[in-house]
Amino acid sequence: MAWRSTSGTNEGLIEQLQEHGIVKTEIIANVMKQTDRKLYCRVAYPYVDRPHSIGYSATISAPHMHAYALDNLSKHLERPDCKVLDVGSGSGFLTMCFARYLQAASPEGTGLVVGIEHHPKLVEFSIGNLNSDDPKFLLEGKIKIIQGDGRLGCPDHAPYDAIHVGAAAPEVPDKLLEQLKPGGRMIVPVGPAGDTQQMEQYDKTMDGEIKKKTLMSVVYVPLTDLNA
Ligand code: SAH
Repeated sequence: MAWRSTSGTNEGLIEQLQEHGIVKTEIIANVMKQTDRKLYCRVAYPYVDRPHSIGYSATISAPHMHAYALDNLSKHLERPDCKVLDVGSGSGFLTMCFARYLQAASPEGTGLVVGIEHHPKLVEFSIGNLNSDDPKFLLEGKIKIIQGDGRLGCPDHAPYDAIHVGAAAPEVPDKLLEQLKPGGRMIVPVGPAGDTQQMEQYDKTMDGEIKKKTLMSVVYVPLTDLNA
């Protein structure tokens, strides 16, 4: 990214992302304005368009990547019974954005967002963040945060309309493709740890065929084995 957006407020940051054409729709702008980044990363300057460390080798992704993920998956967030899996949910920021998107798209819907995170401290951190933002989402079961190995997905709530993977896999995880609903979409950074990866998009057709598209080069922290 050749420019760096920075603002003193969450709203200002999102407006800048809109001006640069990165936040493309009102629904995404509203969702991101309602989800105040400062509640998800306790840093002096949260409203800068860059990733921030959240400890435990993890980062909260840059706002433009959150916007990109919401935009790419938006057509798959519109059914009233939508299910979304956010792998490596980290701070919980994007998990909340998905939940707010589902609610805005289908106010009476029964949508569910499952965040799966392997680090127990980050599970705790994200639950605290989500509750400080709006406790209703966890209380009403619209968001579930599960501690576990995200490479295996979360079969209990599968299949999913949309799967977002927030950490890079050396190869696309088969279990996640299995848990994608026909008509669903997954985006996942694929490539070596500590290097550039490719953001890949996987669409499952109604007859179960998988169609892959490479979207762009990215740098994400790796999906790892917590016990290694
Ligand atoms: N979307 C998150 C990204 C967090 S960084 C955010 O913006 O806050 C990636 C996350 O993936 C980290 O929290 C890391 O702990 C988690 N992670 C890495 N390997 C994992 C695995 N095998 N299973 C589940 N989570 C994993």
